[in-house]
Amino acid sequence: MTNQEFWQTVLGEIELQISKPSFVTWLKNSELIDRQNGVALVGLPSNFAKEWAEKHYEKLILGSLRGRDETTRKVEFVVSQKHRERSASTAAAVAAPTYQLLLSEFNVDPETNLNPRYTFASFVVGSSNEMANAAAQAVIRELGKKYNPLFLYGGVGVGKTHLIQAIGNEIKKAYQNQAKVRYVPSEKFVNDVVWAMRNKRMETIKEKYRFVDVLIIDDIQFIGGKKRTEEEFFHTFNALYENNKQIILSSDRSPRFLPTLSERLRSRFEGGMTCDIGYPDYELRLAVLRSRLQEESIPLEDSAVELIASRIQKNLREIEGIFKKISFYYQQKKKPLVFKFIEQILNESTQEVANVNVTPAQVIRVVAEFFEISPQDIIGRSRKKEVVEPRQITVYLLKEMLGLSYVFIGKKLGERDHTTAIYAYEKMAGELNRSQSLQHKILSLKEIIQKGV
Ligand code: ADP
Ligand code: MG
Repeated sequence: MTNQEFWQTVLGEIELQISKPSFVTWLKNSELIDRQNGVALVGLPSNFAKEWAEKHYEKLILGSLRGRDETTRKVEFVVSQKHRERSASTAAAVAAPTYQLLLSEFNVDPETNLNPRYTFASFVVGSSNEMANAAAQAVIRELGKKYNPLFLYGGVGVGKTHLIQAIGNEIKKAYQNQAKVRYVPSEKFVNDVVWAMRNKRMETIKEKYRFVDVLIIDDIQFIGGKKRTEEEFFHTFNALYENNKQIILSSDRSPRFLPTLSERLRSRFEGGMTCDIGYPDYELRLAVLRSRLQEESIPLEDSAVELIASRIQKNLREIEGIFKKISFYYQQKKKPLVFKFIEQILNESTQEVANVNVTPAQVIRVVAEFFEISPQDIIGRSRKKEVVEPRQITVYLLKEMLGLSYVFIGKKLGERDHTTAIYAYEKMAGELNRSQSLQHKILSLKEIIQKGV
């Protein structure tokens, strides 16, 4: 058996044990370079993939290798030369097809309304979206049964649309087109209802939305407060739900905080599986950018990629925006873009660089110092008034400044449940409207944290 064949069987086994996107992102392009004296040398396409694999997959890979060859003692990961050369040389020859790839963005499937670009293969998993990704996988496995509806929420540009469309595309593939899938932005749903009402053709809503197996509605917050649309949606929802059809929804906030939503809809939403997606951390931004560059074979030196990921902090839509610019310039120039040029593009695109390198630990420390308590008090269990407020402020700042997911914030603050984090955040957000003294505290804290003192 050649190293390559051997490695394929190992990968086959690992593929079954980790999520598909993780596999595709991190391990699919790996190779077994060498096997000698009990040491297996595994090559990965980038330094980042190497670090990620070391951290997350070393045990798994070693276990699988041992299962096949018990003399294996150790795995070592390296960035393989092969990948480097390949990506550099193909890049030069692909300017034309790249452009076609960009055009494919507009190839929306007329039947499902899904964009084929949004797949799990192109969805990079990191700490801010791994729960949501796991929930998505679970829904695909148990279609219409256990996790109904699936309700994903999070801020702008964190990947909600990508993920819910990926679910749709994956279902189409996995169920060999047996399942009828329909994706609709909620504005479209609202328009359809308004049109049907005006033309007295309410049955068109039924025809369009009730005879599907999977209904995906994006940005559901927009139907809140529109009474007739909510009503119609409620009926659609119930009809599908009672027939075990899968409903997938995205929103910019949790169902609990959709202010104008009727109670009965809210409780329907909460009856399924809800999950949030946080803002991407540096690692995820870097990985998404790398994956886009690789997808379209655009060469870019590591230092430039890292610069972008550290400067563009808000969300992945901004990363995509910069990527499009880079892709455009690369096609014009037909040669690799240099670091200086990337810096220039960035300076044009970012007005203000805030919250650079702020870590959760730093936020906790600054808040503790500010209130003259210890970081342990913030993480700890005490319910004394002197520590409860600082703790809630910490939650607020972690969400506002770092955009972390509630799950992650809960974990960072002494393994608390994410509902506690949601409660704290909302409490602070509400009080901020009323209390000037809280406003002052928060403003001062933000300033101190941003200064990095
Ligand atoms: P949202 O709907 O939450 O506002 P989108 O799904 O539109 O965000 O994502 C914004 C951009 O970032 C899209 O181009 C999307 O493909 C990309 N993106 C988001 N999350 C990921 C991810 N995890 N991996 C790769 N690309 C992502
Ligand atoms: Mg969206």
